[in-house]
Amino acid sequence: MASREKYVFLFEEGRKENKALLGGKGANLAEMALIGLPIPPGFTISTKACNYYLSTHGHYPTALMREIEGALLSVERKTGKEFGGRENPLLISVRSGAPVSMPGMMDTILNLGLNEKTLQGLVEQSGNRRFALDSYRRLIQMFGNVVRGIPSEEFERVLSEVKRSKKVKSDLELDEEALEEVIERFKAIYRQRTKSSFPSNPKKQLFMAIGAVFDSWNNKRAITYRKANRIPDAMGTAVNIQTMVFGNLGMDSATGVGFTRNPATGEKKLYGEYLVNAQGEDVVSGSRTPKQLSEMAREFPSIYRQIKRISKKLEVHYADMQDFEFTIEKGKLWMLQTRTGKRTAEAAVRIAVDMQKEGIISKREAILRIEPAHLDRLLHKRIDLKNKPRVIARGLPASPGSAFGSLAFTADDAEKQARAGKGVLLVRPETTPEDIHGVIAAQGVLTTRGGITSHAAVVARGMGKPCVAGCEDIKIDLEKSQILVHGKRYSEGDFLTIDGLSGEVMEGKAELIDPEMSKSMRTLLRWADRFRALGVRANADNPLDAATARNFGAEGIGLCRTEHMFMQQERLPVVRRMIMASDSRERRLALKKLLPMQRSDFLGIFKAMNGLPVVIRLLDPPLHEFLPDHSELQKQMEELKRKHAAKKRIDFLERMAKRVSELSEKNPMLGFRGCRLGILFPEIYEMQVRAIFEAACRAVEQGYTVIPRVMIPLVGYESEIVKMRSLVVKTADNVMKKCSRRIPYKVGTMIELPRACLAAGRIAKHADFFSFGTNDLTQTTLGISRDDAEVLFLEHYVDNGVLPSNPFMVLDAEGVGKLVKMAIKAGRKQNKKLGLGICGEHGGEPRSIVFCHRAGLDYVSCSPFRVPIARLAAAQAALLLR
Ligand code: ADP
Ligand code: MG
Ligand code: MG
Repeated sequence: MASREKYVFLFEEGRKENKALLGGKGANLAEMALIGLPIPPGFTISTKACNYYLSTHGHYPTALMREIEGALLSVERKTGKEFGGRENPLLISVRSGAPVSMPGMMDTILNLGLNEKTLQGLVEQSGNRRFALDSYRRLIQMFGNVVRGIPSEEFERVLSEVKRSKKVKSDLELDEEALEEVIERFKAIYRQRTKSSFPSNPKKQLFMAIGAVFDSWNNKRAITYRKANRIPDAMGTAVNIQTMVFGNLGMDSATGVGFTRNPATGEKKLYGEYLVNAQGEDVVSGSRTPKQLSEMAREFPSIYRQIKRISKKLEVHYADMQDFEFTIEKGKLWMLQTRTGKRTAEAAVRIAVDMQKEGIISKREAILRIEPAHLDRLLHKRIDLKNKPRVIARGLPASPGSAFGSLAFTADDAEKQARAGKGVLLVRPETTPEDIHGVIAAQGVLTTRGGITSHAAVVARGMGKPCVAGCEDIKIDLEKSQILVHGKRYSEGDFLTIDGLSGEVMEGKAELIDPEMSKSMRTLLRWADRFRALGVRANADNPLDAATARNFGAEGIGLCRTEHMFMQQERLPVVRRMIMASDSRERRLALKKLLPMQRSDFLGIFKAMNGLPVVIRLLDPPLHEFLPDHSELQKQMEELKRKHAAKKRIDFLERMAKRVSELSEKNPMLGFRGCRLGILFPEIYEMQVRAIFEAACRAVEQGYTVIPRVMIPLVGYESEIVKMRSLVVKTADNVMKKCSRRIPYKVGTMIELPRACLAAGRIAKHADFFSFGTNDLTQTTLGISRDDAEVLFLEHYVDNGVLPSNPFMVLDAEGVGKLVKMAIKAGRKQNKKLGLGICGEHGGEPRSIVFCHRAGLDYVSCSPFRVPIARLAAAQAALLLR
């Protein structure tokens, strides 16, 4: 038979590695004892005892009682005190401690072991009757509340009544007589509530408390928390029993909490608070205002020095910032807890970098310590929490960052107001591609419908603009240009603030803090760059975004979408004329007007990306996206007729309406778009290629180094790329001959159709590079249209575990990923030099980046604001998968 299970461990028997058995608190108490810190003696009852107790519906393992008694004996020997003894009574705390931090578990009980008899001992030993009585009343209160579930208000009510009758304000002013009254009345509450008297036998108190800790593992709060955080139910909690030390023995005693570094900024400076003459949680309860730890340097200079030494020792030992609790009893320091300190993203980065410089951790460790997604919080404007405005509604956190603006209810309005120099917030039921110019003009976007992969959300994220989506608390009245929020009206010109990280909508303007890459973040990312194998590029459509991306460390542009250039207000009429053209001659005329506009955009981007590759995708979306809505046109026409407008204008609208219905599609995503446009209307692509190479020539003339890459969208057949490639080559060579320049360039294709993956070998014969457009590739592989699915069933799928995550956010490795790998293999086999990248939203998502690293891509491309995240995630992938 296996040796009998041991359930009880003295602190000196454990180590920090024993978290599963001893819980986090127990393991760390043991570790602190091990490295010689002053820890009040005690022991830990293991999680296994808890699991035994829970699986037997409340029975303790047979040997537990004996083991506890043995451990108590050892503590008594160390302290010279006796549990339940009259002369020098041992008092203890009973503290729960699960393997992972878990709010909702049983609160700590202090001063356990007190009764009428030991009280006398405590009085004599401390020479302070008031203190002893106060400790006793706290025990009854905590025990009654925590073990027997008596509402704490009942005790608080008594305290208030006694204070009132004694005409004093704070608990501290209650004298012995008053405390005696409190104790009697507390006991009465206990009796009345539990139909039994307060247990005077210390061992009975102890066993009841241990059972309560075990039971608390299955209370509702704990279960909910475990479910939300995927913590296994089978873990169980440990119980820590520890000799009491008293911070409330007078002015030479205190209790406090500290961080080895500042948890908000990461600054290397002891940070924390303490309260003189106080016990346990008085510090955090807010009943008295604690003092800053720095003041301790004056009040308790030698203890302050000792805490500093300990803080340093803890950090070096744990190789991380620690959050600790301590108590000073009559001028002696006792440590009561340590654990890895929670910190802001900003602090996390700074601490990791500083600790590497101090020689505590390696660069590798520093890189691995930061959750890439957390960098997101540092790269957007944030609300200054000191002056946070009132929250009026909540939606989905669709794109991080904060913004405020005066309300605009249409894209045109947003643009108009923005041009007049106003910051605007675009408020729509939802957005469509037609609203792009409004999104560009706005500081942020607020929608009342749609989810976090709705159009508004995707576009806003791509542009790094804050967005709150699907905010159903808000009712929009587009006719009156106003919104209604819980009965209150906000109109055009009123200001609202949104926080795209929390989904909150606030009244008025918040104070915003600008995003910037801190020195530490730059350093960390520089290290990351040395470890990663993947290149990181950005998706950027204009010189400004390109510059932002470069500042964040992008090594080129992986996707420049030309249609965004078409959407701008002053260009749209020209684009429309081009689409309305009845023959190719007319079309060329309109295109001629567009040419200089496109050229100047490209020139700006080339300059911003001097020396780095720029992948430009030729026109992709279906043409009807550039035309107005049919019913909108109808309305305009009626309006014109009513006003007896010139026939020419009405005719034009009529023709446009006709064109809109000609171009309208049942399923635009699978329709007349991508290279299909280039094949039917080659003049469009010719103009774009001309603009690209004329801009390239000009940039070179001005001394810049240009590395152009032309990308053909939505190729599925070899014949398509053959045709399009020859168009690009012919046009490009023509332009360059005219400028007498020879600029090396490449022509590649976006891989975004399953057929393209299946025919990758043939396509690769004519492509210099593949860029996986995983947004469309996911839609076409899964047969799921993103915008519709998000609203109708995707959320349900994810919530109910049908899908592990939203495949438009985290790349579906099993399906889409398999196609990607297949295409890579066939493509590289055909063309050894084939360049490989990804430019879907997945390119900025850490888990998908791991996939990209594994698959052997050359680079990922993502929105400028995600470039730092991608740099870090790529380094982590390389470090972990080496
Ligand atoms: P939590 O997990 O809520 O912090 P703790 O068990 O750490 O719970 O304790 C609550 C409070 O009681 C803390 O302020 C802690 O420092 C204090 N405390 C716990 N055990 C003792 C003890 N043996 N002596 C003095 N104070 C204690
Ligand atoms: Mg604690
Ligand atoms: Mg696409």
